[in-house]
Amino acid sequence: MNYIIVDLEATCWNEKHHTRKSEIIEIGAICVNEKKEILGEFQIFVKPNLHVELSDFCKQLTSITQEMVDNAPTFPVALEQFQTWIYSFGKDYVLGSWGFYDKGQFEKDCLLHQLDTNWLKNHINIKFQHAIIRNLPKGIGMKQAIEHEKLVLDGTHHRGIDDARNIAKIFIKLFEKWDYSLDSSTKND
Ligand code: AMP
Ligand code: MG
Repeated sequence: MNYIIVDLEATCWNEKHHTRKSEIIEIGAICVNEKKEILGEFQIFVKPNLHVELSDFCKQLTSITQEMVDNAPTFPVALEQFQTWIYSFGKDYVLGSWGFYDKGQFEKDCLLHQLDTNWLKNHINIKFQHAIIRNLPKGIGMKQAIEHEKLVLDGTHHRGIDDARNIAKIFIKLFEKWDYSLDSSTKND
């Protein structure tokens, strides 16, 4: 069994209740094996379909530039590369992300492009489980959790690959504690 720790960035706007559909613009992931070894890293930018121009808010939040997404493949191509990378380590894997957001956003983009979502079914919500393990009243932000675990935040927060590296550190630190039988659809963020 391998563990694919994944973090997404997506198009966003500086409004709470906007009606626009967010789409993935970066996939960052780390593959960890049963021995807690990092087998590899994956990073790809994705060109959005619905709103091709990134908002200033989104560019500031993620530090992703218009050029990076303009030169990137579309979601179906990027997803195929991601899946090829996952399967290069073996067919048995569980996805892990900080919250439920990443799985939900993958589902939305797969539906938008009429792609299969079955590959997402083995998933754990690391944020939700971290709160249980550490006896916290609710899930905390990844940056806060890094501090709570006395780890060091690497890279730029809100960049998919850097977020994935940081989540992987928390995942490896608490490796023996994750419960793979917990319902992955726990939407407690
Ligand atoms: P993160 O993994 O925390 O960088 O967040 C993933 C995606 O969620 C970002 O690329 C944005 O699309 C969205 N997001 C995160 N934080 C915010 C925020 N404060 N306001 C609006 N959207 C956000
Ligand atoms: Mg992120």
